[in-house]
Amino acid sequence: MAPILPRQFQPELPVDQLILTNPPGAEALEMDVLFVGAGPAGLAGAIELAKLVKRDQASGGGMPDIDIGVLEKAGSLGEHSLSGAVINPRALRELFPELKDADFPFRQPVSGEAVYLLAERGSLRLPTPPTMHNHGFYTASLCEVVRWMGEQAEALGVNIFPGFPVASLLVEGRAVKGVRTMPSGLDRDGNPTSAYQEPTDLTARVTVLTEGTRGTLGQAWRAWQGVKSANPQIFALGVKEVWRVKRPLDRVIHTLGWPLPRSAFGGTWLYPLGPDLVSLGLVVGLDYPETGLDPHVLLQRLKLHPLVRPLLEGGELLEWGAKTIPEGGYYALPERKSGEGLLMAGDTVGFVDVPSLKGVHYAMQSGIYAARAAFEALKTGDVSAARLAAYDRMVDTSYIVSDLHRTRNMRLAFKHGFVAGGVKAGLMSLTGGRFPGGQIVMHEDAERPRVETHPAPFTPDSTLTFSKVDAVFKSGNATRDTIPVHLLAGRDIPPEVAEFYVHLCPAGVYERVGDQLRINAPNCVDCKATDVLGPRWTPREGGSGPKYRLM
Ligand SMILES: Cc1cc2nc3c(=O)[nH]c(=O)nc-3n(C[C@H](O)[C@H](O)[C@H](O)COP(=O)(O)OP(=O)(O)OC[C@H]3O[C@@H](n4cnc5c(N)ncnc54)[C@H](O)[C@@H]3O)c2cc1C
Ligand code: SF4
Repeated sequence: MAPILPRQFQPELPVDQLILTNPPGAEALEMDVLFVGAGPAGLAGAIELAKLVKRDQASGGGMPDIDIGVLEKAGSLGEHSLSGAVINPRALRELFPELKDADFPFRQPVSGEAVYLLAERGSLRLPTPPTMHNHGFYTASLCEVVRWMGEQAEALGVNIFPGFPVASLLVEGRAVKGVRTMPSGLDRDGNPTSAYQEPTDLTARVTVLTEGTRGTLGQAWRAWQGVKSANPQIFALGVKEVWRVKRPLDRVIHTLGWPLPRSAFGGTWLYPLGPDLVSLGLVVGLDYPETGLDPHVLLQRLKLHPLVRPLLEGGELLEWGAKTIPEGGYYALPERKSGEGLLMAGDTVGFVDVPSLKGVHYAMQSGIYAARAAFEALKTGDVSAARLAAYDRMVDTSYIVSDLHRTRNMRLAFKHGFVAGGVKAGLMSLTGGRFPGGQIVMHEDAERPRVETHPAPFTPDSTLTFSKVDAVFKSGNATRDTIPVHLLAGRDIPPEVAEFYVHLCPAGVYERVGDQLRINAPNCVDCKATDVLGPRWTPREGGSGPKYRLM
């Protein structure tokens, strides 16, 4: 059987729907600065901008009041947020110099850490690699951090609009002038029901894309403007659970090896979130070479390992979720992150350092820089690409880019599997990123051929291990099952490709029925994995998707 090339079955990104040249409607809501996405990047940006305006006014700088908006697709803040998370507090300290670490909504300081290499029945403790030292950092639930940041932003006068997914950028010439949101209340065929709400247009002098991983608008804007990067962006998928446990976990744990095959890049984590909660998850690079790899099943298998099982036994699964991570690092950063009327911050740009699994503080820090650039642009009345390029200069000379440069080839070294990658990454770590020099060239994940494999079926016990259907229930997803399908699949998907999507999607959205692909779109938790390798994800009615509380 010839290998499957995912790209061959993937539709093009619908750029013409995502970038609209229509002028904003007459009823458009006027804002000065709009952040698209209320994650750490968007909220840090909104908070910093509101503070800059207040500081300027207090010092007699003459800046008038401005309208700052944050649009979020989740029904309420934090419901679409998912991370590990161990958080480096550096950017939060810069954003709130008046607060102490104890004031931040963290769960606990990292008090110990361990790294293990797993085999199916055993484990070997490894020395902690320098990139994985987490002393001085904190464990947290990103949902809680985001909800808290939302409160801080509102207290500063920021307008937050949850339940408003942005469907398109409104442009004029090469300038971004604002956004159009998704309508709601459409039936399965796209016809208005009695609950129909029209799209809303919002104009802004500066629009900041902070839409997170595999940002749809960011992809479209870059394609439209022809913005390149040295390597294409590559992604991993993370699947995560939060458990109530009987005994506290006393340290942060990372594992390598089993249950991942040697051909795949990834690992797992277990983080304590206070005395009776544990976050555990598995991350796998989406360049894995076989069709039968199932990230959800791998996480279920992990829980049966002798290192993990005793910790969870007698406990309770509280929440389940999934999300992708941009893993391309330094060489996948776009050559510019700004344009006329537009800035991009956080995961949509790719500010994640994979060897340390950190993105939250980079997202916040880039949001802060975006706010500073937007503030200067408004102050001078010049939102041209040349003026907003000040943001690129701030980011490029910051610790965000220098950190990513130091680990520039470490993830990329794993493109030929775990063993060769581990040796090379160790040498890179020892030489501060100088070995092997140059750039390891990568291709898009969808360009990697997949060999057809058929894994043994896995039967969950519904106590420690769960099916995808149970998992989606635990994500809180209660999307109306009559909304239009928001996933754009290719035509005539062969059965073996349908099977590949079935394994890939952690939420059981894809089914193979006979030789046909069936799409249960309401199950989707917006992880974006199939946007990377298969059917395209597009925005859907506000409030659809998961309702995470602790992720
Ligand atoms: C499994 C996993 C584990 C991780 N572990 C860690 C860790 O331990 N430590 C760490 O520092 N980092 C970790 N990261 C990375 C970190 O979570 C991200 O780097 C960070 O959340 C990025 O912030 P962001 O604001 O750019 O994006 P996000 O947090 O993804 O926020 C983007 C927001 O935009 C919204 N949005 C998207 N599209 C639209 C639209 N069209 N309209 C309106 N709203 C939209 C989304 O709903 C979301 O709320 C992890 C990530 C994952 C997936
Ligand atoms: S269909 Fe939704 S949940 Fe499934 S992989 Fe794609 S984005 Fe993730």
